[in-house]
Amino acid sequence: MKTVHHWIGGKAVEGASGTFGPVTDPATGEETTRVAFASAEEVDAAVAAAKEAYATWGTSSLAARTAVLFRYRALLDAHRDEIARLITAEHGKVHSDALGEVARGLEIVELACGITTQLKGELSSQVSSGVDVAAIRQPLGVVAGITPFNFPAMVPMWMFPLAVACGNTFVLKPSEKDPSAAFLLAELAAEAGLPAGVLNVVNGDKVAVDRILEHPDIAAVSFVGSTPIARHIHTVATANGKRVQALGGAKNHMLVLPDADLDAAADAAVSAAYGSAGERCMAISAVVAVGATGDALVEKIVDRAGKIKIGPGDDPASEMGPLITKAHRDKVASYVEGAAGQGARVVLDGTGFTVEGHENGHWIGLSLLDHVGTDMDAYRDEIFGPVLCVLRADTYEEGLALINGSSWGNGTAIFTRDGGAARRFQLEVHAGMVGVNVPIPVPVGYHSFGGWKDSLFGDLHIYGNDGVHFYTRGKVVTTRWPDPSESGVDLGFPSHR
Ligand code: NAD
Repeated sequence: MKTVHHWIGGKAVEGASGTFGPVTDPATGEETTRVAFASAEEVDAAVAAAKEAYATWGTSSLAARTAVLFRYRALLDAHRDEIARLITAEHGKVHSDALGEVARGLEIVELACGITTQLKGELSSQVSSGVDVAAIRQPLGVVAGITPFNFPAMVPMWMFPLAVACGNTFVLKPSEKDPSAAFLLAELAAEAGLPAGVLNVVNGDKVAVDRILEHPDIAAVSFVGSTPIARHIHTVATANGKRVQALGGAKNHMLVLPDADLDAAADAAVSAAYGSAGERCMAISAVVAVGATGDALVEKIVDRAGKIKIGPGDDPASEMGPLITKAHRDKVASYVEGAAGQGARVVLDGTGFTVEGHENGHWIGLSLLDHVGTDMDAYRDEIFGPVLCVLRADTYEEGLALINGSSWGNGTAIFTRDGGAARRFQLEVHAGMVGVNVPIPVPVGYHSFGGWKDSLFGDLHIYGNDGVHFYTRGKVVTTRWPDPSESGVDLGFPSHR
């Protein structure tokens, strides 16, 4: 059986803790790989390698750093298919979706290639006679990233390319459920010429994370994962003096107004709710149908959902794959099983679904729950599976209040033909990313990604300008080069001259 170890100081390092975790192929339920879990000492070794590398990488030229990133971009481009295959084998998502994940991650590598523009700084010339002020941004040192299972390549790429472009060195702790893609990303970075120790990967669980959170040589932590863990990471790491951005879970609403193109809205709802089997932090999990649209919309969703082909991610005919683990599959099923008892109408029940010849896979079909109330478990919890809830509202205001009443505020979308209503929604909704007739409004790489409320702890969003700010700190330099002929003692308070 394959074992995934750690990547420390520019090379693979065998796990020495004696603890391993299972990695399964979700389509078959078979354990295909085991992953080494790092001890606190192994995390310390990775941080020490990163600290040593920072001594030279932190002061290396922008030209040297971007040269590596351009080579890295080309290598990643050449290995798209291989990365996507690793994602499918361990996560389960279909190959086309995995390729999309790699493409969105590459966007951030491309942004990092242009770090020269982002780090130009600011200069105010002649603020006072003979005085100039320059604002520059400098790296933090060793920074760490902790990432979730649902985007095993893209989310690490949201973090380390920009961090190292800014001159930091990095310790990544990928999800233990699908660690192979991140390991390949590190190998390719070395092949591109990234010096040893600039990017390190430690695999593991809470033990490794806890050490990262308390390690005195780690200056900042980027986290993406579920809300309870994001809150914990933010609390502990900030208490230990670190800069933290911790992105959490979500319940993303799609508001459908009566004037919307219902076919387009139904297409969008099905794509955004069931794509990647609902295991996306930007998945639409709640449709709020306003006015009389509800019944017709539900009918159109059912029509489309019935045609989705579910199967192994490496079968080109499959549009949706299995869930990450058996335990997660069972948890998702429990929300559908409990929905009728809480008053929802179960329009589609995917809990009995399986794939012939792959009976041990973590399968679940598409589920649709209508007339869901805000007090029901299926609405209150992040299900993170192919379960779409439909709620009803009489007016725009009622729909908006419902969305703003949610404890999460990651993404949201409005479907309408009314520009005025769309504009009101942009201003009035409490969420970090808003789509207008766009169901999954993930910002492009040169904007920043992040939610509000329980979807983000910390203030700076990830990648884009916020990412550059997160991975650098500001310094303002005030300079005077006096003309020696005018020099003299002056005990007065310095003021503008
Ligand atoms: P998770 O919170 O279980 O795990 C995320 C990371 O934290 C993993 O590396 C894991 O090993 C580590 N971890 C888990 N439990 C821990 C603990 N008790 N102490 C310390 N570390 C711990 O999340 P997941 O199940 O891997 O990913 C799915 C979640 O991530 C969903 O909630 C989803 O919405 C969220 N997510 C959010 C975004 C976003 O941008 N907001 C993006 C992707 C995923």
